[in-house]
Order: sequence, then structure tokens, then C-alpha cells
Amino acid sequence: MTKKIILSGMRPTGRLHIGHFVGALENWIKLQNEYQNYHLIADYHVLTTSLNTKNIYQDSLDMLIDWIAAGIDPEKSPMFRQSQIKEHTELQLIFAMLVTVNRLERNPTLKDQVRDLSIENVIYGHLGYPVLQAADILLYKGNYVPVGEDQVPHVEITREIARKFNNAFGEVFPECEPLLTKSPRLIGLDGNSKMSKSLGNTILLSDSPEEITLKLRKAVTDTQKQRKGDPGRPEVCVVFSYHKHFNTDEAPAIDSDCREGKLGCVDCKLKCAAKISEFLSPVYNRRKELENKTNYLIETLINGEQRAREKAVETMKEVRSVMQIG
Ligand code: SF4
Repeated sequence: MTKKIILSGMRPTGRLHIGHFVGALENWIKLQNEYQNYHLIADYHVLTTSLNTKNIYQDSLDMLIDWIAAGIDPEKSPMFRQSQIKEHTELQLIFAMLVTVNRLERNPTLKDQVRDLSIENVIYGHLGYPVLQAADILLYKGNYVPVGEDQVPHVEITREIARKFNNAFGEVFPECEPLLTKSPRLIGLDGNSKMSKSLGNTILLSDSPEEITLKLRKAVTDTQKQRKGDPGRPEVCVVFSYHKHFNTDEAPAIDSDCREGKLGCVDCKLKCAAKISEFLSPVYNRRKELENKTNYLIETLINGEQRAREKAVETMKEVRSVMQIG
């Protein structure tokens, strides 16, 4: 039986952190046997937030290493750079004719993207972001897109574009559906609701156990708990939120020991660092091996790009044929 197709991707903005791991990669790994996954390194999408492309190749390679080290099998799931498959931009241009400016302005995620920008700094690329995303998904005839709740509006725009194209020219595209993931969102070491490299509050998949310990030492805890004997409130503590994810067996005991003042924050952080290091150790070790295999990484990209291109070219042939152009 032909497997259903999933399109998922990330913008290559550098090495990945544990938030990416629990928020997306764990899910991708689970899905890779049941579906035909395509993994997009969305390097064109990076341009909406930065025109500095100096490190984009290295960032793409770093992300590739993290994906493979985490357990995604490139034999099963092609991994490829968006910029290397020209059909993305071609399909985007056609799709741009199928969606109104008004519809794109109503996209709720646009507000998040441009929140900190004054109107004169909002570029066309921000508005057109969901159109390029629609091309990313439909070029591979994606049936599902694994997303969190906040990304559902983008999938809805993709569905509308597919419907409009099919009605205007003929049935080519599936109406993809969101595959809602209930993955937890990890908070940052500084207590920010988002773990993000730009905020400097991350634990990277490439961090050594020593680096993890150092970072945990600075993590925000319950500020009312000054010393070991003080009763603490785990529910407001960043470290405890990590215990709940990476140290599930001991979390209930840590919760009560913290409340009763039996546990000090220094010991608690060391325990947490050890558990995260243990959890990440297979990924960290695989990553170390991959860092020295540049040829293998380049071949993996070339191979992924060939497989993605074959599918993209096939789709564009169909598109051109039903549109009677080219
Ligand atoms: S003892 Fe642990 S859970 Fe309690 S406040 Fe300190 S670091 Fe957080």
C-alpha cells in the first residue's frame, strides 16, 4: 500500500535544542515508519527574519547532523534544502495568484511574526510566508503536516489554495490535514515561555554534560526559596519543569522534597543536569561521530535533494499540463 505523505521542516537557524527534540523530532521519528516523510531545510524562509546568509550552509549542515543524530533515517526520509529545488519558487508564484492579500492579512500568525516591527519594516515575504509554505507542502502532495495548534491557520491556507487550484484547473493537489502534535513546549532556562537560541536560554543537543551542568546552574528556580531548608514551589521552577520531562520517575519525590524543604536547589539542579545528559547521551555521541563525516553529510543532502526533486518535477509537470502552460 502506498504510504501517505508528510511534509515537515525547520528553518536552519543553527544547532537544535532540547525544545526542538521534544517538540518535533521525537514525533518525526515515530512517524517515519508509518508515512513517507519529506524533511525540508527551509533556508528561503530564513530570509524573512535575516538577510545575513553567511552561515546558512553551515547552519543547514548543523541541523542535518542534529536530525540524523536524533534518529531520523535519511534512507527513509529525504532531507533537502528548499533553495535547491527550484520548483518551490515556481509553484509559489502560481499559488500567489490564488490567494487574496486580505486573506493573508487575516492570518493570525502574521501578527506574531511582525509584532516587533513597525509597518514600514514588514516585507512582502512576511505576508507571503504561508504561500511559500503551501508550495512546500503541495509540491510533494503532502497529506499531513505535523504541527502544533498555532500553525493550524497556515495549513488551512494551504487547503484553501489547493481547493482553489483544483477547482480552477483540475484535480492535482490533496487537501492536506494538520497532524496535531501534543508535544510539550519546553520553557527556557531563564523562565521565558519559549526556548530559543536568540534568547540564549537553550540546552543544545550538542552540549556536553559539563556544558549542561553549567547551564542548569544558572536556571531560574523559585526565587522565594533561598536555601535548602526553605519550602519551595516546584510549579514555578524551570528546573522542575525539566524534571517532569526528563526525570519522570523521580519527579514526584522531588516535588514533595522541594515543598518540605528537604531538597536544596544546587543538588536538584545537579540531578536534573545528570538526567538530561543521560537522555541526550546517544544523540550527543552520534553527533560527535557525524561531525567528522562531512562527505557522508554532503552525500545525504545530495541524495535527499535528488529524491525530492524527482517528486517536485513530477508535480510541476502535472501542474503545467492541467494549466496548459509550458
Ligand atoms: S529544589 Fe528543585 S524544584 Fe525546588 S525550587 Fe529548587 S530547583 Fe526548583
